[in-house]
Amino acid sequence: MDGEAFRRDGHRLVEWVAEYLDEVERHPVRSRARPGEVFAALPPAAPEHPEPFEQVLSDLDRIVVPGLTHWQHPSFFAYFPANSSYASILAELVTAGLGVNGFSWVTSPAATELEQVMCEWMRELLGLPGRFSFEQEGGGVIQDSASSSTLVAVVAARERAIAAGAEPSRLVAFASEEAHASVQKAMHVAGFAPGALRAIPTDPSFALDADRLRDALVVARHAGQVPFLTIATSGTTSSLAFDPLDALAELAAEHGMWLHVDAAMAGVAALCPEHRFVLDGVARVDSWATNPHKWMGAQFDCALLYVADRAALTAALSTEPAYLASAEAGRVVDYRNWQIPLGRRFRALKLWFLLRLEGAEAVRAMLRRHVAWASELASWVDADSHLELVERPRLNLVCLRHRDGPHATDALVEAANATGRALFTRTVLGGVPTLRFCVGARTTERRHVEAGFALLARLAAEGAGRRAVGARGRPGEAAPHGTGVGKIGGCERPGGVETGDQGREA
Ligand SMILES: *Cc1c(COP(=O)(O)O)cnc(C)c1O
Repeated sequence: MDGEAFRRDGHRLVEWVAEYLDEVERHPVRSRARPGEVFAALPPAAPEHPEPFEQVLSDLDRIVVPGLTHWQHPSFFAYFPANSSYASILAELVTAGLGVNGFSWVTSPAATELEQVMCEWMRELLGLPGRFSFEQEGGGVIQDSASSSTLVAVVAARERAIAAGAEPSRLVAFASEEAHASVQKAMHVAGFAPGALRAIPTDPSFALDADRLRDALVVARHAGQVPFLTIATSGTTSSLAFDPLDALAELAAEHGMWLHVDAAMAGVAALCPEHRFVLDGVARVDSWATNPHKWMGAQFDCALLYVADRAALTAALSTEPAYLASAEAGRVVDYRNWQIPLGRRFRALKLWFLLRLEGAEAVRAMLRRHVAWASELASWVDADSHLELVERPRLNLVCLRHRDGPHATDALVEAANATGRALFTRTVLGGVPTLRFCVGARTTERRHVEAGFALLARLAAEGAGRRAVGARGRPGEAAPHGTGVGKIGGCERPGGVETGDQGREA
């Protein structure tokens, strides 16, 4: 492919992407592909000679698109949003076209300094404290994922504790039972034994119970262990619960622990001053992470991580082989020392394009629409005779159940997703199956939320009707009682995580 073909086919590809997005609603939200179907439709070996662009394009339509679950679909209410704004799509094209690897300042000064400025812009827009600024001892970086942000926080916290004299084998970390599964994975990858991560029970709102953490810290100290890290969540995956950062910061200060905050989805809500409660207590945390690649519109990968003490992060992750030495080292930011891999994409362009071509106010307007619709949705659920709210809705997430019990909820999720007209996620809260209805796609309009609710209400009524006919005389379905102890992120790995609760009646 030469420059001329690139120009010609590139224009057609932009048309193709624009058309896909124009018509995304026409697809079933969840792919109907069966396992192995896409695999079998592809040739077993790579071509030796060029094929026409038309053929590649037609295979995109014929093989790839039917094998997709459409995350940009307006009725995608599953997991979390993965918004891909037009502006950020263009930025990705620039990133690919420039093809730079900005692992050190000297390998492309603009890649590093634009990223620094984007972190400062976002810090201001979000209302984050000045201690996360390059002007002070902190700074921001764009990682590939919140998982990576958690992993580097774990490693930085560990190295800080060891440098302060802690015995590595005695280190223990804490997170709530509702923390994301990536917390468990980060500890595992960082080389900790399963018992080094303690799962702290939550309060009735599914937020980390700070009193239980206080107790677990006493138990750990008595056992001769060294608490070095607490990972709090601001907006848990299952229910968007907010751990009490103020209380956790108290305990972190008392025990010399690093306090990391995972605000992967909900953090960007702080762009709206009226939602700044998501930052309560942030002034005293050591690191804080959110993903513009979820709700905000800078598509994957774009994960912001802020640290209050950038030297603690780079001390843990710096390597200085001869072939990476540069005259500017020490006077500039070398982002390779802020992350796990060496190589890094020019991700800052996505935020730069998004903020300049759309403006922060457009992003706020979208977040506000979603929050307003989620709150309307919650009132509809509340008024429905077959559905009920599990939790008062927070921001853009509504958690609901079928009033007939856990099996009815499971059946409802299955039936709704099978229609292809909307997509929801099943989770488990307090041991009971729950349907998550996450309003966050850039393309969603109010009518899609209405239709999503109507679908659930209809299926819930039909299910209840069938059960009334089919189950005469049968006792009500019993809720399975999950202990909720010893698990993080809903991981079905019994014994994988220690409960921080030993020696105490559950
Ligand atoms: C989505 C999410 C993650 C994982 O994000 P990645 O960027 O895919 O690693 C972690 N924690 C929370 C709270 C999330 O919402």
